[in-house]
Amino acid sequence: MHDRTESLTKQGFIRHDWTRNEVRALFALPFPELLFRAQNIHREHFDPREVQISTLLSIKTGGCPEDCAYCPQSVHFDTGVDAEKLMSRAAVTEAARAAKASGASRFCMGAAWRSPKDRDLDRVCAMVEDVKALGLETCVTLGMLTDAQAQRLKTAGLDYYNHNLDTSPEYYEQIITTRTYQDRLDTLAHVRAAGIHVCCGGIVGMGESREDRVGMIATLASLSEHPESVPINMLVRVEGTPLAQAHALDPLEFVRTIAVARITMPASVVRLSAGREDMSEETQALCFLAGANSIFYGPKLLTTPNPAQDHDRVLMDKLGLTAMR
Ligand code: SF4
Repeated sequence: MHDRTESLTKQGFIRHDWTRNEVRALFALPFPELLFRAQNIHREHFDPREVQISTLLSIKTGGCPEDCAYCPQSVHFDTGVDAEKLMSRAAVTEAARAAKASGASRFCMGAAWRSPKDRDLDRVCAMVEDVKALGLETCVTLGMLTDAQAQRLKTAGLDYYNHNLDTSPEYYEQIITTRTYQDRLDTLAHVRAAGIHVCCGGIVGMGESREDRVGMIATLASLSEHPESVPINMLVRVEGTPLAQAHALDPLEFVRTIAVARITMPASVVRLSAGREDMSEETQALCFLAGANSIFYGPKLLTTPNPAQDHDRVLMDKLGLTAMR
């Protein structure tokens, strides 16, 4: 089994039949071996000096009826995040213009909904059209989508839809009870069927076991098409959420998760997402070595802090990394 894993991953061969045993074996590799393999595969598909930069804007904050245990925007938790209305089209366009001026190539818009109402979707479609007109790629995350809603977003020109699996199927119920894993897979299928690129990953450091991290990556890597973008988030422990006191994950285990995502989904962009604010430069550098090639830029990730753009620029300069165009 180990030899097969080695020979198939060496060429960056894209497979959709990853078994948990294989993914588990990758997680268990000696760290230098794991990073070496991830590096080789990264270089077969990407220029390792390039990092794709996205900016994320919360276009509708708070008041979400879902109960995702990590999220300060859920109405179930008292986190001090107030429910706001959907932003105006003009304000979103202005933010997108500023993001482009700071070097972003993709503008992501997030709304704290269980699923969008049709009249809200009309407004989001108009925002997508405006952002596209600025020459930016567009991504939205709006919760669960029906087939018809995904088609409407596609018609508006949407490039990416973000919908994370969050964790393994087994651990999922510890994190969310208001919708099922299957609901998530169904939304991903609707997005795919509409011809929109998929952005889908998860969060680590939520008290899950390594086996859950194995399960999450194995599920992502066994999708019939890999997500074009795979965000791997480190939990940001927010006061008032059930995970506020979660035990911090060893940063090297986070790096391992990035490396295994890179090896199993060779042609996907792997995004070093939430949690960078609390990460040392050294850990972030290891993540890039492990095959991460995308970051969120900007002072805020929805409602939690993110390293300031200047800080990011200094780190990228130090590492000789440039923005992917
Ligand atoms: S993660 Fe999204 S769906 Fe879950 S509570 Fe937060 S805003 Fe709602």
